[in-house]
Amino acid sequence: MFAGPVTFLKSAPALQFLPDPVAPEVAFAGRSNVGKSSLLNALTGRNALARTSNTPGRTQELNFFDVGAGPVLRLVDMPGYGFAKAPPEMVRRWRFLVNDYLRGRQALKRALVLIDARHGIKEVDRDILAMLDAAAVSYRLVLTKADKIKASELADVTQRTAAEARKHPAAHPEIVATSSEGGLGIAELRAAVLDAIG
Ligand code: GDP
Repeated sequence: MFAGPVTFLKSAPALQFLPDPVAPEVAFAGRSNVGKSSLLNALTGRNALARTSNTPGRTQELNFFDVGAGPVLRLVDMPGYGFAKAPPEMVRRWRFLVNDYLRGRQALKRALVLIDARHGIKEVDRDILAMLDAAAVSYRLVLTKADKIKASELADVTQRTAAEARKHPAAHPEIVATSSEGGLGIAELRAAVLDAIG
């Protein structure tokens, strides 16, 4: 499916700008710099679909990408979180936008929460996990930048992350380890996306 058309549809800075829910949606969340843009590009086999932007102000939007004719599926790039210097007002807006979307969007079939393999789940990630649990949106944890650590460290962080996932009611117990650089786990990630809409 990802070999067909993948196109940017629109950015929604607030709920009234969401597109009509004509296709199932899979959303991607993660702290800023976790490698979300790179992973969306690797997933879709595009070089510059999701723009790599670390400017706080520009990222407070939900970005929608249509996959396949119809479209068959929509990928939703959720605004990053955990900016070191984020003003409280920005954090508040992020929570409102993300919570409203998670709670109110029937088309949303699954979320993928990206976690930097070098760090594992951090305190900044726990907010989104709690929001997903509360909204009963099924989600899966995805480790990024796996090429940056040794195989033994990857095995260790995967195990720790899986142990924490099991404590979250809406989380899938199995972790997907990925690298946008080497291509590790990208096929598995595609399968996880297709499984969500199947
Ligand atoms: P975003 O802010 O979550 O969208 O993160 P980006 O995709 O912009 O990535 C942040 C930085 O991490 C960039 O410098 C990327 O080149 C780098 N990066 C992203 N994914 C990987 C990966 O799988 N391996 C390595 N080595 N670097 C990565």
